[in-house]
Amino acid sequence: NCISDYSIYELTKELKLLLKVDSIAHKGIRGRATIIAGGHAKMGAVILAAKGTLHSGIGLLSVQVCPLCIDIIQNQIPEALILEDENDYVLGSFLGYNKQDVLVFGPAIGFANKTIKLLEEILKTFKGQLILDADAITILAKNREMLELLPEGTILTPHHGEFKRLVGNYSNNFEALMQLKSFCKHHKVVVVLKGKFTAVCNEKGQVSFNTTGNQGMAKGGSGDLLCGILAGIAPRVQNPFETAKLAVYLHGFSGDISLKEYGENYMTPSTMISNLKDTFKKVE
Ligand code: AMP
Ligand code: MG
Repeated sequence: NCISDYSIYELTKELKLLLKVDSIAHKGIRGRATIIAGGHAKMGAVILAAKGTLHSGIGLLSVQVCPLCIDIIQNQIPEALILEDENDYVLGSFLGYNKQDVLVFGPAIGFANKTIKLLEEILKTFKGQLILDADAITILAKNREMLELLPEGTILTPHHGEFKRLVGNYSNNFEALMQLKSFCKHHKVVVVLKGKFTAVCNEKGQVSFNTTGNQGMAKGGSGDLLCGILAGIAPRVQNPFETAKLAVYLHGFSGDISLKEYGENYMTPSTMISNLKDTFKKVE
């Protein structure tokens, strides 16, 4: 637990270059992302994540949805390719997402047995960058043998409530940091522990604190948007720790623009999506 394990994230020229593509780029270079989230009557999480991915520079976005929800996605997100799940109310099929560079799994996806099996299959077979959030994290906490299947470099994005399900209770920030480092080292994963001053920790136990963001972001859907931004930049950044730190920074930055423009009460994850426009101008 030495001091050099901790740093404060700052945007540098080198980081900005990570998001640049060549003038002759085609969509494959920007990358392919799939989002498996939501479900019947819980499509908000998917829409926010999908919009976050699209407005963060992805080349091709696929969204897996149940048949009842196809119209919602086609109306809201015409850019998305749809992978139609065979199940009406829960997501649980394997849909060839192995060609994807990055896969988001979890927001509002629920806890059906089929969904748990699907997560297990993904952990065993998916070869790209995996991002696990929300219900996926709770599934891992309740089925602890699945934790051993986590591919190296997986990005997990728990808030403190979800992280406590994984590591047990803690009562202060110091204990939280110790748990964070030991979880990441043990499972060789990158964890984004969300809150004020979100901490991002890598497989070596190095922790980076984020400085952007504000209390106006403490609203439902905020975390779903972060998943989307992570997926949007991951194929270009090509490194889970750098992806996580940069996505958290950009997410908070768009929150800070929203705060100035709309105020902490009016702002929402949707206003933050519009403010990704000026956020990305800062890094382009
Ligand atoms: P979730 O709880 O999954 O919706 O995620 C909430 C998001 O909002 C995370 O990215 C948090 O870091 C961010 N957030 C929540 N509360 C605050 C706060 N008080 N200050 C800064 N960011 C926050
Ligand atoms: Mg969440």
